Amino acid sequence: MNTPIGHLYIHVPFCSGKCVYCAFYSELFDANTCNAFLDSLERELDMYIDGESAPETVYFGGGTPSILDKEQLERLLQTIHDRMDLSKVVEWTLEANPGTLTDGKLPAVKAAGVNRISLGAQSFDDEVLKQMGRRHSARDISDSVEAVRSAGFEKIGIDLIACLPGVDTDGWKRDLLAAARLEPDHLSVYALSVEEKSVLHAMVKDGHVSMPSEQAQIHALAIAEDILGGAGYNRYEISNYSRPGSECLHNLSCWRGGDYVGFGPAASSRVGRKRWSNSASLDGYVSRLFQGLPPNSDSEILSKEMDATERLMFAFRLREGVFLNDFAIEDLPMDHWYQALLEQERLGLVEQRDERWFLTNTGCLLADTVAEALIPSSPAQPA
Ligand code: SF4
Repeated sequence: MNTPIGHLYIHVPFCSGKCVYCAFYSELFDANTCNAFLDSLERELDMYIDGESAPETVYFGGGTPSILDKEQLERLLQTIHDRMDLSKVVEWTLEANPGTLTDGKLPAVKAAGVNRISLGAQSFDDEVLKQMGRRHSARDISDSVEAVRSAGFEKIGIDLIACLPGVDTDGWKRDLLAAARLEPDHLSVYALSVEEKSVLHAMVKDGHVSMPSEQAQIHALAIAEDILGGAGYNRYEISNYSRPGSECLHNLSCWRGGDYVGFGPAASSRVGRKRWSNSASLDGYVSRLFQGLPPNSDSEILSKEMDATERLMFAFRLREGVFLNDFAIEDLPMDHWYQALLEQERLGLVEQRDERWFLTNTGCLLADTVAEALIPSSPAQPA
């Protein structure tokens, strides 16, 4: 690859089961399959990396990267060390599920340079966790936070899901307070969404689960902002809160328009106007790489205006707002964006302050609607 990698993402496609709401690509963890994945990942990296890469952030997501055993994690970390100049890395995140950071994994990943652990807590109600197919308890969450802290990691993040079935307003407040009590540096709060490929989709379709109204979701997210704001967290992105200076730098860079390169099945990448995603199939990934072929991927080169529009859409997620003139380069659809924003302002989804545009609280929940309105009619071209 000629373009150096500033922000590196590795998709680790294994979990210990499937959560009912999940549509991310993952397979059931199996040690042999995982070794084949690690072999393949090395081949994929060797195909693309030119030795010049010196990322500033590294992000191991999934899936559940922490489900790998200690030796496999060490191998994964060494794979990166062997191929890149890591002297510029300021943030190296490992996504983990509570209860999986056992057997000496924490000191091993810390020794290799990981400095941020992002824990998928989702809820502190054991019954709700069970119904959602999570494989951990509330106790596991606090134990994991304690273990991560004792191991000396710089940053800890906790993810929560709002509007889970069976969680009323009081339960949601309890979840938020329980998370804040653990004093993480960062909190992600996503409203539950029904993804087409998830088990939840079928449950909702069959009438076994009913989803909260839009108003109820807005209310739940407003409660999150109140409670977490009161606990000293700044909502810097639609779904993300942090202590000052503890924003997730990897994601922040993507929202601000930075390029990123992903490896592993289902990983996606953005470099300049080019976008590509590896196919979501571990079998296909392993078999192609063993034949010396690049993994199957969909790729396209966006038109200049679609590229800028996509970056604008990402930027809108940030609470720092958007200054349209920052995107003002020749031939861009400024007038279309401006007219679209005036219309979204009329609908109460965006507002303008000091020449910057911001999503309103309702707009935060309907960010996709705002994003769609910004898209000019200009098709992408195959790469
Ligand atoms: S939500 Fe996370 S832990 Fe659950 S199945 Fe999906 S990737 Fe795995």
